[in-house]
Amino acid sequence: MTPAGTIPCELCAGAGGTVLWRDGRCRVVLVDEPGYPGFCRVIWNAHVREMTDLAVADRDHVMAIVFAVERALRAELAPEKVNLASLGNMTPHVHWHVIPRHTDDPHFPSPVWAAAQRPPARPAPHDLAARLAAAIARAVGHVDGS
Ligand SMILES: [Zn+2]
Repeated sequence: MTPAGTIPCELCAGAGGTVLWRDGRCRVVLVDEPGYPGFCRVIWNAHVREMTDLAVADRDHVMAIVFAVERALRAELAPEKVNLASLGNMTPHVHWHVIPRHTDDPHFPSPVWAAAQRPPARPAPHDLAARLAAAIARAVGHVDGS
C-alpha cells in the first residue's frame, strides 16, 4: 500500500526489465537500452539504499550475483570490457549496472552516461534473453553455490 501523496516505487511495482534470474533477495533484469544488448541490472528486492546497509552475507550475495552476470556476459557476448556501476540516486533499491561494452557502442570509450559519439549499431540477438538466463544460472552455480 502506497501512502497517499507519495510516488509509487517503480522497482516494487514492476521488475524493471526482463527477468533473467531471481531469488528471494535480488533479481537480474535485462534492460532494453538501444545499442547495448546485454545491459543488465542486479536489483536488491527490498528497500535498501546503500551497500553498507546490507548484512555482510547479503553484500556478499549481491556481489556474487553481479560477478555471475559479468561472467555470463563475457561468455555470451565477448565484450571489450564490462562496466560495473552502482549509482541509484533516485531509487531506494541498491542495484548494480552490469554493462557489456564494445568498441562500436554509442559511447565507447567514454562512460555510458557521457555524450553519445555514434548511433546505436549493435542489434540484440533474438535469443539473447534466453541465452543470458541460462548462462547466469550456470554462473551463479559457480560463484555462489546456492
Ligand atoms: Zn521499491
